[in-house]
Amino acid sequence: MTLSTPAPTHPGKELRDSALRQLDNAARALNLDPGMKKFLSTPERTLIVSVPVMLEEGQLEVYTGYRVQHSTGRGPGKGGIRFHPGVTLEEVEGLAMLMTWKCAVTDLPLGGAKGGVSVDPHKLTRRQVERLTKRYTAAILPIIGAERDIPAPDVNTDDSTMAWIVDTVTMMTGQHSPEVVTGKPIELGGSRGRAEATGRGVAFVTLEALKRAGRRPDNTRVAVQGFGNVGSITAKGLAEAGCKIVAVSDVSGGYAAPQGIDIPAAIDHVKRNPKRVLEGLPGLSRITNAELLAMDVDVLVPAALEGQITSANVHEVRAQIIVEGANGPITADADRVLADRGVTIMPDILANAGGVVVSYFEWVQSRAQFYWELDEVEKRLEIYMRRASDLVLAKTKAYDCTPREAAFIVAVERVASAIEKRGIFP
Ligand code: NAD
Repeated sequence: MTLSTPAPTHPGKELRDSALRQLDNAARALNLDPGMKKFLSTPERTLIVSVPVMLEEGQLEVYTGYRVQHSTGRGPGKGGIRFHPGVTLEEVEGLAMLMTWKCAVTDLPLGGAKGGVSVDPHKLTRRQVERLTKRYTAAILPIIGAERDIPAPDVNTDDSTMAWIVDTVTMMTGQHSPEVVTGKPIELGGSRGRAEATGRGVAFVTLEALKRAGRRPDNTRVAVQGFGNVGSITAKGLAEAGCKIVAVSDVSGGYAAPQGIDIPAAIDHVKRNPKRVLEGLPGLSRITNAELLAMDVDVLVPAALEGQITSANVHEVRAQIIVEGANGPITADADRVLADRGVTIMPDILANAGGVVVSYFEWVQSRAQFYWELDEVEKRLEIYMRRASDLVLAKTKAYDCTPREAAFIVAVERVASAIEKRGIFP
């Protein structure tokens, strides 16, 4: 019998399958032992918890929460917590695995983990979200901790969520515990420069790709899609390095200026605009988001959403270097087309890893109870991002592969080697 309706898509499963496919490719290139590949294909530990929350007197609701540690081979697990109705075990498993590779490619002494609660927090009051967070934290407490697994913010969670987690762990253990999470408010031990870290990291990765291509920043035209946290700070960093940012965009549309856009003025405009968008920025021509992606620029930075460059528009893309500020902005089909055309794509697991690098710095600072100045954070971030980019680009030559494949090769090799050196217990 043929089914007349297509099977429902399952984004969480697709994400996990895609993470597994990338592991497969890297394992093949490295000629990895099949047993090791099997070990790396499976999460080390999965905890599924029930999260009961008394919404109002007599109104009990129960949510499902997850914490997955994919690998602790190189150090304690690291990864965000998301509150979203679409959270599934498969999604959390896939994201935990990607965190293992992200930490490994940037050479952090950390493993990969992820957590989530299947809930729509927008339907709850702030007080209810606080109770949900504290109950979820108590439920996963047996497996988290500064030496075990260190959560951070992700979709629909922020520095307040992290402060509630610190409070819960502190109350339950009787010990002040800021080092149990990163992404905390500064007054609770958050790191300077954390908010800007991802965008600054994207800028450093772009500069490294330009260096490799023999291009000078002051002779480089850039278009940035998305002008939120990642896009605006990337644009600022690249403009400071001498690049000409000729187009930017956000939900209100695209804006172009062939002579270059004054990025600090644009950031200031967004901050003052009640709608927090670029709309109304003077002196620029309006373009569509589709036109921005097709612009004749040297570098394109998609820093808005996933799935922006697809088989439908990939033939219009003219940039020779694409740096993935967002997660998954290029579909697998489009990625192949661009690779065949020789376009250099700096992949998300490397390009937007600046946030997790500064999370690592925050963990170090919280454990030492000694806090660094901003210039110290930025200097060290630059070293980590440039070193990782340089190594990934060098591996593209050694393995005759794309930077995306090379990033997975570097990461998988590092994790497998750490596990091998430790030996399989017992
Ligand atoms: P954000 O919400 O601050 O900004 C998103 C921007 O994209 C906004 O300017 C929004 O107006 C714009 N946008 C939305 N829809 C658009 C569209 N159709 N066309 C053009 N612009 C559009 O989010 P962010 O923190 O900057 O995150 C952006 C991306 O980077 C996401 O994919 C996120 O997962 C990824 N990322 C973020 C971080 C981080 O530390 N913030 C870390 C790693 C990855």
